[in-house]
Amino acid sequence: TLGVIALDRHGQIAVGVSSSGAPFKAVGRVGDSPLPGAGLYADDKAGAACATGDGDKMMRFCPSFHVVQLMKQGLSPSECCSSVVAEMVERLGEDPPLEIGLIAMNMQGEIGAGSTVKISGGHNGSSSYNGFAYAVWQHDCEDPKILVHS
Ligand code: ASP
Repeated sequence: TLGVIALDRHGQIAVGVSSSGAPFKAVGRVGDSPLPGAGLYADDKAGAACATGDGDKMMRFCPSFHVVQLMKQGLSPSECCSSVVAEMVERLGEDPPLEIGLIAMNMQGEIGAGSTVKISGGHNGSSSYNGFAYAVWQHDCEDPKILVHS
């Protein structure tokens, strides 16, 4: 799943995802990605979040909604993502390990991520990262920056 969060200079925030879904998915399966609250959520009073990973587990927890609600209470995007991932890992156990990556942005443009991903990227000969890699672009930057949550 590819997720994008955009905040404009007028204080409007939007989130979108594009997903091919889980490998070997059942015919007719609707994953977490298109479900508001599960795969994505935005609220211009707090910020936005989106998710990638094991959708069948994730959609039980509405992680994107949960992250945004925590941001509404004043936590940083990074604290919110880490807290939601930690709670899911605690409740689901580690066998089999949960695969999840979350990104979030608040209305100040601060960003954060949380994940259980150990290695990302590396497809088609591209670089791989030790952790969950995501890109950030701001209007005063020439190129996007790659950040890695590990
Ligand atoms: N979350 C997606 C799904 O379960 C899969 C993914 O993020 O790669 O449909």
